[in-house]
Amino acid sequence: MSNQATLSGLSCRKPHFILVPLAAQGHIIPMVDLARLLAERGARVSLVTSPVNAARNKGIINRVMESGLPVHFVELQFPCIEAGLPEGCENMDLLPSNDHLKTFFDALSLLREPLARYVQAQRPRPTCMITDSSCPWAADVARELGMPRFIFHGPSCFVMVSFILMQLHGIYDRITDDFEPILIPGLPQPIEVTKAQAPGFFNLPGWERLRSEVLQAELTADGVVMNTFDDLEHSFIELYKKVTGKNVCAVGPLSLCNKDLDDKAGRGDKSSIDHRRVQSWLDSRKPKSVLYVNFGSIARLRPCQLIEIGCGLEASNQPFIWVIKDVEKTPEVDKWLSEGFEERVSTRGLAIKGWAPQMVILSHPAIGGFITHCGWNSTLEAVSVGVPMITWPYFADQFLNEKLIVDVLGIGVAIGVKLPIFYFSEDGPPAAKRDDIERAISRLMDNGEEGEERRKRAKELAEKAVRAMEGGGSSTENIAYLIRYALEHGKKDSEEEEHNA
Ligand code: UDP
Repeated sequence: MSNQATLSGLSCRKPHFILVPLAAQGHIIPMVDLARLLAERGARVSLVTSPVNAARNKGIINRVMESGLPVHFVELQFPCIEAGLPEGCENMDLLPSNDHLKTFFDALSLLREPLARYVQAQRPRPTCMITDSSCPWAADVARELGMPRFIFHGPSCFVMVSFILMQLHGIYDRITDDFEPILIPGLPQPIEVTKAQAPGFFNLPGWERLRSEVLQAELTADGVVMNTFDDLEHSFIELYKKVTGKNVCAVGPLSLCNKDLDDKAGRGDKSSIDHRRVQSWLDSRKPKSVLYVNFGSIARLRPCQLIEIGCGLEASNQPFIWVIKDVEKTPEVDKWLSEGFEERVSTRGLAIKGWAPQMVILSHPAIGGFITHCGWNSTLEAVSVGVPMITWPYFADQFLNEKLIVDVLGIGVAIGVKLPIFYFSEDGPPAAKRDDIERAISRLMDNGEEGEERRKRAKELAEKAVRAMEGGGSSTENIAYLIRYALEHGKKDSEEEEHNA
């Protein structure tokens, strides 16, 4: 048998996954991790992206390439101009305003034909697709080609099942007041929210079609993949299975697949600061003494809010690393930072302006707390390394994640924000003032019984997270299940193709 034939025979036995993330940092990053995990278990993976997103993720893409794993990054041209978006607007965090959100999802759906052409052209034929739940057009491609298909849910299982229960029990239709406190029906413990805090996905006038396509894509999927782990969300995973009848593959915390410092540093975008500099800054601090502050990739904080945060951090007297996004760095903020603040806190504070190497920071033993917007990736990344949190949600799933962190898991202190701020809002006072921030920090970092208990619970969860990702762990087993499923349900197609070729 020639080398070529041997390779061809081997590749035929390998499942080939097509991964389609939503074009947002909080969805691309975990999918890249998932691609690596599948490839490490012997699968071939094609991850669909676009030129701007591939350039931003170049660091981690290069690391994957160098590792020799069979992961291929497929760049489809993003149809910005055709859809009416500014050129280069290929990621949710690049949108100029809330008004562009709908156009962004319309643009994404135009990728359906190019994706179908790509998948059809592959030999041997891809065996399984994992598509983000917000990309039902990608699910259509799998359906048309008769491929097994899983939906990837970016949020926690707790959030997904809560939204479904609220829908099933008619909360969204029945309750007219967005700010009326309601108990989520059917959960194992009482959790109170308002509709404004738990709005469901795409549950807005004008979004009906996308919402129905998203629900349909999930209903007809072979199962769902979630970035969570059984020991963290067991009761919600079981409830989700019961309510939807769907198989759930909990495969997280995906961030833990990044063992090497350079892998951790390369996630999502090029860090605006050398990660070795951050590392050595942290090395000089006492264990669990530093507070890390980062609000993820999408929420945009106004100058007045940033100044309140700065004053709260200064008043707290704690060492801190504070991340301010490029888009937030207005002349007003820059002036405030440079005219006194940075100098006053220079011995104990580090302000990172731009993209931060979050996993490098969070996994350092000097980190003792995290002020987070409760995006699910940030939440799970903190859980995976045992860091308790100050919860400061902005929108979407974040208020429910706060409930999970504070009320269910007992590893967080709520800053006390009750009203969502969607994406960017131009007016109103800061959601939390310097005193609220200082108070929450002193509660979280406190060495008394309450703080110790919280730290203990966070540490136990981190140990369980690591076990889930080890050999024989629940998440590792679920990755193995995905590979088996793809082989069993997609293999015949590949063989036929190979045979006919
Ligand atoms: N992130 C990062 N550096 C930053 C900001 C964000 O590495 O400066 C990563 C973070 O580790 C997480 C993702 O970006 O993996 C943000 O996802 P999340 O779900 O927390 O929030 P979103 O950005 O979707 O609101």
